[in-house]
Amino acid sequence: MSRVDLHTHSNASDGKFSPDAIVRMAAELGLKYLALTDHDTVAGIPAAQEAAHAYPELTFIPGVEISTDTTEGEVHMLGYFIDINDTEFTRAVERFRDSRQGRAKGMIAKLAKMGMNIDWARVQELAGDGVIGRPHIARAMMEKGYITTFEEAFDRYIGHGGPAYVERDKMTPAEAVELILCANGLPVLAHPFTVTDPEKLVKELKVAGLTGLEAYYKDASPNDTKNMLQLAQRYGLIVTGGSDYHGAGENNEVKLGGVNIPIKVPEKLIALAGERGKIK
Ligand code: AMP
Ligand code: ZN
Ligand code: FE
Ligand code: FE
Repeated sequence: MSRVDLHTHSNASDGKFSPDAIVRMAAELGLKYLALTDHDTVAGIPAAQEAAHAYPELTFIPGVEISTDTTEGEVHMLGYFIDINDTEFTRAVERFRDSRQGRAKGMIAKLAKMGMNIDWARVQELAGDGVIGRPHIARAMMEKGYITTFEEAFDRYIGHGGPAYVERDKMTPAEAVELILCANGLPVLAHPFTVTDPEKLVKELKVAGLTGLEAYYKDASPNDTKNMLQLAQRYGLIVTGGSDYHGAGENNEVKLGGVNIPIKVPEKLIALAGERGKIK
């Protein structure tokens, strides 16, 4: 059990628990540092910050995980210490969220053509106030009995390039770096060992202002972590880490705080944010 988790999702995007519930769970588990990094939204941050006031031994770090696309597939960009009131940032994420509605409807239409009838209203209900994502569609498919495991939805239908897949509005990783910097945040490449050529991307993004790599992650092997630590060192980047907790018990997920992360990791992140004047 680690005392650090810098990658978590709440029901502000596609996680199960509310932001305040995640903060409470983290505190009860004895975590010292927690970041909330919902997909393409910072809507959960105020509630999490508010909840964190009750736990002085827990340092809460505001974050976001922006979905981007490259010709080789999806790339996720974490942003820490974002100014959640930055107008350019909030406009960009709102536009993104709106486009996700149309995209989800597109996937439902494709599923319908394949004989699977998913109610749009049910998907919206499952998403609640959160950003609509493929997990909500997968859950609706499960309810209707079209699939027997959550994974099956992705493997057979809505995985990247699958027969019912529809792409999101496109943003490049460099654009996400720029957006995060412009909102006074620190951009960190999420799970970089999952991209085809991490070094090529890191080299490119370093020029754009990338500040870190996520080296500790639920799916990272010790060797992946070692490679990412070395890559970060070569490019003068800090490292972060987290469980990518969603709370739904899907994807055989690890628990909150379930990835072993040295306490130095959040300390360095906070120090860098302080140096760059990102903490108010
Ligand atoms: P979206 O943001 O709508 O593209 O959905 C992305 C989310 O779907 C990810 O954050 C994961 O939670 C989930 N996801 C994507 N691919 C898979 C997969 N192959 N198996 C299970 N879950 C997945
Ligand atoms: Zn997710
Ligand atoms: Fe991710
Ligand atoms: Fe994530």
